[in-house]
Amino acid sequence: MIDLLNKLIKDNKHYSYKGKAASYIPALKEANPNDLAIALYDLNSNKEYYAGECDKKFTIQSISKVVTLIIALMDNGKDQVFKKVNVEPTGMGFNSIVNLEVRDSVRPYNPMINAGAIVTTSLIKGKNEQDKLERVLEFIKKVTNNNDIYLNQRVYASEKETGDRNRSIAYFMKSTGILSGDVEKILDLYFKHCSIELSARDLARFGAVIANDGIIPWSKERFLSREICRIVKTIMVTCGMYDASGEFAVNVGIPAKSGVGGGILGAVPKKYGIGVYGPALDEKGNSIAGINILKDLAKTLDLSIF
Ligand code: GLU
Repeated sequence: MIDLLNKLIKDNKHYSYKGKAASYIPALKEANPNDLAIALYDLNSNKEYYAGECDKKFTIQSISKVVTLIIALMDNGKDQVFKKVNVEPTGMGFNSIVNLEVRDSVRPYNPMINAGAIVTTSLIKGKNEQDKLERVLEFIKKVTNNNDIYLNQRVYASEKETGDRNRSIAYFMKSTGILSGDVEKILDLYFKHCSIELSARDLARFGAVIANDGIIPWSKERFLSREICRIVKTIMVTCGMYDASGEFAVNVGIPAKSGVGGGILGAVPKKYGIGVYGPALDEKGNSIAGINILKDLAKTLDLSIF
């Protein structure tokens, strides 16, 4: 398996030259576009395999949307959550505002776009903002089996400083009644979630928990319900790769979620948790070498769920 992963890195590295690291904040632009890493957690053998810059930390950005969705579902149940956010693909960019006004429902289209994730963030329970953030960090520590989980303070400060589009989405949703509470506090938490740093190996372990229907594979503890894992995997398939989710389903066929930091989280039901890192992005915002490495991996190991 290690040989295969090393080969996949070698074969797909050239794609990085065709992409560009996200540039909307300086800290992301500084990432090395040639970095490429893949990690696999094998549920069959309970072993981890990895190649490339697997321990390099990067901000998870939109991958945090999977975390907030899961915690919102745990805290409120699916009926309450889906009263406030729909589960349909948008065909629009992840930070689009247009659907919120022109479609007949005021619910954001799905929890994997910014509007939806701001809503799921507002549904996380806690005594105060610090407590809510602690809960998110504790959750991530648990599913990555890693206590070394922190925010990148520089990315957080930039996200907050430049987050006017997210601010407008959130205030719009407050005006329609979908979002309740203090908008600035909700956004602050959303920016913090985006700025959490993980490595490809951390993502692979997280993916393994979801792929294993919520039972933590290294401790055998049931941590998430099967139902929540089923819902999350489904939404990852339909909406997880921005508006390239359909193409990704055809070419790769595994539940996945990407972020503009260059990470991709993958969960192959009952088989593998996958973490990929490659900060050079394609025009849709997905890791360009990352997608291609997953394409080859899925083909070689016959991983498509379809
Ligand atoms: N922090 C980014 C935003 O809210 C996340 C974008 C992403 O990874 O899709 O715009």
